[in-house]
Amino acid sequence: MRPEERIAAGKSIRDALTAFRESVNQKGTIFSTDHWLLPKLEQLQQLLTEPITQEEAEALLDVRYQRHFLEELIEWLERGRPVSWENFFTYRANLKQEELRKRADERERRRAAGLHPYFDTKIFADECFPKISDVCPDCGSSDWKPIAYGLPTEDTEEDARRGHVVLGGCTIELGDPTRYCPACFNSWPTKPDVSKPAGRPEWIEQQIVESRAEYAQLSALADSPPAPEEPVVERAWARIDRSVRFLVSFGDNKTVVAKNLEYFRLGGAPSYNPGFLSWCTYDESRRLSTLAAVAALRFGRTHQPERHNLYNDWDKVQAHRRELSRCCDEDSFQREWEKERRKKLTELLKLARAIPERLPSVVSVRSFEQDRKFLVRFPWGVVGVKRHRFSLLEPLEYRCTSSCTRDEDPDLAQNLACAAAMLAEFPRLARAGRRPPGSEDSTAASN
Ligand SMILES: [Zn+2]
Repeated sequence: MRPEERIAAGKSIRDALTAFRESVNQKGTIFSTDHWLLPKLEQLQQLLTEPITQEEAEALLDVRYQRHFLEELIEWLERGRPVSWENFFTYRANLKQEELRKRADERERRRAAGLHPYFDTKIFADECFPKISDVCPDCGSSDWKPIAYGLPTEDTEEDARRGHVVLGGCTIELGDPTRYCPACFNSWPTKPDVSKPAGRPEWIEQQIVESRAEYAQLSALADSPPAPEEPVVERAWARIDRSVRFLVSFGDNKTVVAKNLEYFRLGGAPSYNPGFLSWCTYDESRRLSTLAAVAALRFGRTHQPERHNLYNDWDKVQAHRRELSRCCDEDSFQREWEKERRKKLTELLKLARAIPERLPSVVSVRSFEQDRKFLVRFPWGVVGVKRHRFSLLEPLEYRCTSSCTRDEDPDLAQNLACAAAMLAEFPRLARAGRRPPGSEDSTAASN
C-alpha cells in the first residue's frame, strides 16, 4: 500500500505513525534515525486526534516529503492549531514580525528615556571608552548615529531601518569609527592618514604620474567657467593630515569630496575623491563626480577650510590609550605587589619580636618544590601555613591556610601562625637587628 493510503483521514494514529516510520529514509523522504524519530513519534501519539483528520494526514505527508519540518508539525499541534496547517506558516511569520516590532518599540522607548536600548546594567565601564564628541566634529550636528559592526541581527536591521543605527559592515578593526553623521557623511573618530601608499614601487610611481595628470585635467576644468549644473560647495573642513573634506550639494542630494595628499607627499598632485552618489546611475555618477571634484578644487582656491576639530577626535582616542596603558603598566603593578609583600614580612617580624610568648609552635615542615607547608599548634588546635616563593628575586609570601575562627582574634592568630612559620624557616631572624627575608632587595636571608 502506498504511504498516501496508509497516512490518510480516518486511519488510527498508531497505523499512520507506523506507516510514517516505515517510509522515512527513502528517496525523496526525510532522513531520520530511531534515536531522533521515536521520541517525536511518541509526542505525536499524544497530540494527534483519533482517528487522524484529513488535515493531520496532509501535514504528516508534508513532513514525509520534506516540505516542512517535523518540529513545525509538533509546534502547530502543541499550540493548539491556532489556524489551519496550510496557514500556519504565514501566521507564524506574522507573529515573528509582530514580536520584532514590539522589541524595536521597546528599544525606542528606552532610547527616548535616555537608557541603553538593550541592557539594564552597564556591562562596560565608561573608562573603557574614550570620551569622544557628542556632536559631529565637522559640521557640529548632534544628530549622529552609532555605527553597528558585525553581521546584523534582525533587531539591528530593524533599528537600522528605523534610523537608530547605521550598519558598518561585517568586520571591525581597532580604530574603526563608531559614530556617523548623516548631515555631512563624517564618521569619527578616524586616524589621520599619513601612511605611505601600499604597493610595488613601479605601481606607486605610476600613481604619482597619474595623480599629476588628473590634477591638471581638473585644474583646466576649474579654470573655465562653471557648468550650469555644477554643484555648490557648502562647507569644507581641514584635517591634521592636511586632507580636506568638501560638503558638496546638488540641490536635494549631497556628497563629500575628499582631497587627499598621499601621492602629493611623494611628489605627485592632490587627488579629489568624491563619495558614492547613491541617487544616480553609474554613467551619470561618473559625470557628476567630476563636476563635484571640480567644484571642490575651485572652492579650495578661494576659501580656507574650517579648522575646528583637526583630529576628528583621534587625539581623544590616543589620549585615552595612553591613559589606559599607564594604568595597566605591568611593571608598576609588579612593583606595588612586591612592596606590599615586603611590608607584610616586616609586620610579621615586628609581631614575632613583640609577643614571642604568643607564637604557636611549629610541629611540622614539608617542602614542595619551591614552596613549603608548615603545621603550627595553637592551644585550641593546629593550622597550616603555606610559604610561597614566586621567584628567587621576589619576597616570600606566608599565608595561613585556615581562617582561625576558633581564636578570639582570628586575624591576629593568622599573623602569629605566619610569623611562627617564618621564624622556623629563618631562626636567626628572632634576634633583633635583622630584617626579614626579601625585605631588602634580595632574598639574602634564605638558607
Ligand atoms: Zn557632520
